[in-house]
Amino acid sequence: MGVPLVDRFLDEIDPDETVQILRSLVKLDTVNPPGNELRAASYIAGLLRRAGIPVELMEVEPGRPNLYAILGGPGTPKLTFEGHMDVVPVGSEERWSVDPFSAEVVDGRVYGRGSADAKGSLAAMVETLLALKRAGFNPSEPLALLAVMGEETGNMGIRHALKEGFRSGMAVVGEPTGLEVKTAHKGVLGVEVTARGRTAHAAMPWAGVNAIVGMAKLVLKLEEFDRAVLKTRQSRLVGSPSLAVTTIGGGVKRNVVPDRCSITIDRRLIPGETPQTALSEIQDIVDKLLSEEPQLKADIGLLYADPPSEVSENEEVVQFARKAVKIVRGRDPGVSGFEAHCDMGALVNAGIPTVILGPGDLSLAHRADENLSVEELVEAAKVYTALAVLTCG
Ligand SMILES: [Zn+2]
Repeated sequence: MGVPLVDRFLDEIDPDETVQILRSLVKLDTVNPPGNELRAASYIAGLLRRAGIPVELMEVEPGRPNLYAILGGPGTPKLTFEGHMDVVPVGSEERWSVDPFSAEVVDGRVYGRGSADAKGSLAAMVETLLALKRAGFNPSEPLALLAVMGEETGNMGIRHALKEGFRSGMAVVGEPTGLEVKTAHKGVLGVEVTARGRTAHAAMPWAGVNAIVGMAKLVLKLEEFDRAVLKTRQSRLVGSPSLAVTTIGGGVKRNVVPDRCSITIDRRLIPGETPQTALSEIQDIVDKLLSEEPQLKADIGLLYADPPSEVSENEEVVQFARKAVKIVRGRDPGVSGFEAHCDMGALVNAGIPTVILGPGDLSLAHRADENLSVEELVEAAKVYTALAVLTCG
């Protein structure tokens, strides 16, 4: 591709070693809950330490550390590769055609839980550090790897690292983007709404206040709001926000007018929206219902909130990431938005310009027969290596 400074380092990427690292990581069960990320962290720490790279494990919960490694340190890294060590549960095992932890390679693809989300990215990041070390890379500013625990259950690991003072000039979050450069992702707001009425004998429903009927009216108002309002909002990279009623529960027994019904709402936010504004919109809809049904009461509880995030295309990390992909794949990937939620929000909100970039297909994550192309895995290691050299060289 004619970038001699970078090419020398790309040649150090060892495809067999990269696949071996991924297979070893997949075989280490880090299903969260409970996580057990120490298994993956110990393995990665061993590889890096044997190569002479300083590694630190920071315990977040017993048996659940974050791992931090640095090349050319100490000091604040110019660039940090960030990836999560935990994986989501296997689901119904009978839906898998392979053992989810055997890391079988079939037709050029590594199968297993976490192969795409996100142990492929992590393996490529580890290989990048090993290759750079082998090649005698001498960064002018430090390059770091932060492998976190607890991403799949509320971004615990990155939140902990930031609280403990982790900082970086820029960061790359490894998630399955098909090696596209993602500069925005949606935020999430999770709330629970409980409607309260009054019980009565079901033979005399007029004597009670039926919380299920009240909730049914609210559900339809929320659905109308999603269709008539949220669908009209647009963000260039991540499309429209959304609202979905995702669970419902209530009632006492067959012959009792129910005094209680609860729903949970999953609201996805686009850049420009905040969890606070989204919450107050839901509050307004609930208030409207209560004004129409004065006998009913309702309250809203916050379950989860993480804001959306977006970085400017002018940020160095965006420019370098696009250039790195171009060096390896021969074409500029441009920028796009990420459909799912990840650690980018926490990093951007801490003032660290961040992109999401990694091997794998997001639609294969969180499902049976999750798998990752070996070719794309090796390309990812090269992309990360090019990015490290462009940024810290
Ligand atoms: Zn992930």
